[in-house]
Amino acid sequence: METIVSGIRPTGHLHLGNYFGAVRNFVKLQENNNCYFFVADYHSLTTHPEAEDLKEKVKTVIIEFLASGLDPEKATLYIQSDVEEVTELYLLLNMFAYKGELERTASFKEKARKQPNNVNAGLLTYPVLMAADILIHKATKVPVGKDQEQHLEMTRNFAKRFNNFYNTKIFPEPQAYNFGHDLIKVPGLDGTGKMGKSDNNGIYLIDDAKTIKKKIMRAVTDAGPEKDKPMSEGVKNLFTLMELVSEADTVKYFREQYYNLTIRYGDMKKQLAEDMEKFIAPIRERIKELESNKDYINKILKQGSGKAKESASRTIKEVREVIGFYNTLK
Ligand code: AMP
Repeated sequence: METIVSGIRPTGHLHLGNYFGAVRNFVKLQENNNCYFFVADYHSLTTHPEAEDLKEKVKTVIIEFLASGLDPEKATLYIQSDVEEVTELYLLLNMFAYKGELERTASFKEKARKQPNNVNAGLLTYPVLMAADILIHKATKVPVGKDQEQHLEMTRNFAKRFNNFYNTKIFPEPQAYNFGHDLIKVPGLDGTGKMGKSDNNGIYLIDDAKTIKKKIMRAVTDAGPEKDKPMSEGVKNLFTLMELVSEADTVKYFREQYYNLTIRYGDMKKQLAEDMEKFIAPIRERIKELESNKDYINKILKQGSGKAKESASRTIKEVREVIGFYNTLK
């Protein structure tokens, strides 16, 4: 049994990229592991969200986690900011994170390019906060995408440096959880890049049948297949989405039509919209139910954040001891 930690930033409703790229894997992992899944609200502060907006989005992610099958009896579901111990560990790990390596992080460079007027220290030390999230529960495995490998490598470095300096074995060196074929990149509907890259290229777990159909019918394709011409990005993406939600026979049928050049994209899109609705409808209905059940959500969060805090304070206690703090009030 592994200890697993992963979080999602509260940026709004979950889209199919979040579902197939993260949450669906969490649902599998919770069966046989000691899992901690959290809403990364501290992380989201780098972009300065409004208070009301932040509150709403955190609740949204928790509800959509639950609607997607995360089970509070199996995994510890919590809000990052409920566990302040994370911020203490973040400060302590910052002493082992060097400015040069933080500046060289790919995600920092990308964010700094995207928001040149807000290159704050939180952005620079984002990988340290991520390391604190992971090490606070002494995680052994972290489900990460390719783009997060560098952060995990940094987490291992901070853990090693801390352990070496204080001559302790408090922190394990967490490894990437290997999903093999399960780790997929969900494409968007605009024919470029992955779902979630821009606001309107995604299908959300909350979308109703009409919205799903409208979005899919508008998805980018091309003028039609031509002999010896490679499949365009947009059409490839439609097939990828179809593979996620449709029966294997359906995908095969449209692939054959594509390769014998008789395909009508309109028909394929209609089928995809129908299958997508079938897939999303039960999740959407659970979201609606949960939205009207505030007391249940509060109970879940109290229980989850309480459990996460227990685990975090055990780690912090050990850490404070090896550092040599007086702990006068503890
Ligand atoms: P984000 O908050 O946008 O970083 O998304 C949270 C997590 O969802 C990421 O760490 C990925 O694991 C997953 N994710 C987001 N978008 C996609 C996508 N288009 N394809 C696959 N996984 C994705």
